[in-house]
Amino acid sequence: MDAAPDIAVEIVALTKQYAVDIPPAVDQIDLRIASGSYCCLLGPSGCGKSTTLRMIAGHESVTHGDILLANRNITRLPAAARGTAMMFQSFALFPHLSALDNVAFSLKMKGVARAERHRRAGALLERVAMGHLAQRKPAELSGGQQQRVALARALITEPKVLLLDEPLSALDPFLRVQMRAELRRWQKELGLTFIHVTHSQEEAMALADTMVVMNHGLIEQVGSPHQVYNFPANEFVARFMGGHNVLQTASGLVAVRNDHMRIAAAQAPGASGLAAHITDIEYQGTYVLLGLQLADEAQAAPAMKQVAVLLHESDFLACPFELGQPVLLWWDEAHAHALQPGAQRPAPRQPQPTRMRRDPLAAMAA
Ligand code: ADP
Ligand code: MG
Repeated sequence: MDAAPDIAVEIVALTKQYAVDIPPAVDQIDLRIASGSYCCLLGPSGCGKSTTLRMIAGHESVTHGDILLANRNITRLPAAARGTAMMFQSFALFPHLSALDNVAFSLKMKGVARAERHRRAGALLERVAMGHLAQRKPAELSGGQQQRVALARALITEPKVLLLDEPLSALDPFLRVQMRAELRRWQKELGLTFIHVTHSQEEAMALADTMVVMNHGLIEQVGSPHQVYNFPANEFVARFMGGHNVLQTASGLVAVRNDHMRIAAAQAPGASGLAAHITDIEYQGTYVLLGLQLADEAQAAPAMKQVAVLLHESDFLACPFELGQPVLLWWDEAHAHALQPGAQRPAPRQPQPTRMRRDPLAAMAA
């Protein structure tokens, strides 16, 4: 029998309200993150990912709710006392310090003697295979080497949880893919809990054990990349993750993966399905992506008229479709995944009842 996983971080009704006259940036979210897992907070810009991460780090005050780390309530502890560490966008190394001094920096701030902090920083650099480059400045290191220095610098305080806010988004696409593989490898090797904020679906799917999809300060879905991609909870998740068509059918709203759509020329004998015509053909290498517009009678909502079909290159070559061609679309019932309504914003919290303070003057007058 599987034991329930240890929970590294638990968030209870966590709320951030930056100003009274705007909706909360984070609205009463609940979340449990398993120890030693790679968790990605994913969502469009402005959905509250960084605010959530900064509240966990202690860099942002909490309006309501609680944050527990290994069952200890850390909501009101200063950042340095929490057992978390943060790794920032493009690593934010000090350019004038060597790799060794970058890693040792927080120990210096704590007043640890020079020999001791260099010993510990050196050991960590060895750990991330950077010992031989300890005296180099950041500008003399490759992107990958800088990332390892940044990782060592974050780990020097022996955190239980490493927090990463878009650590790869400033890198060029090639390096980004390399660096994420390395982050994933280090996370597994160190056995630490990573909480990584990204707006990239691809990055989250590549990295995460658990994906947390956020929108407008709410959590829309929590699950493995496989669960979230194949069984999106609602229309927002299906559209945000991409690779799906959202379609209104007799049985309700469904998502069908682009590569599960079936397509035939409208004149094909015996074919039946939704009428559409091809508006776009994009060659992608292994696959060809067809953009289509459904005929008016096929779907009511204008947003649902645009669909996409992903064909294997060999299937496309066997039956090359042309721009403007009328076609029929269908799918196996087993590939239609029913969508639920989206996350609902919780009712605003009632103000805490303030205890009636007896007015001493009124009491005397009575
Ligand atoms: P994300 O990281 O998902 O892009 P953020 O957590 O940075 O989103 O922001 C969530 C919302 O809170 C946005 O509407 C943003 O404009 C707002 N916000 C973020 N930081 C502040 C701040 N310091 N003061 C006021 N509003 C803020
Ligand atoms: Mg952000």
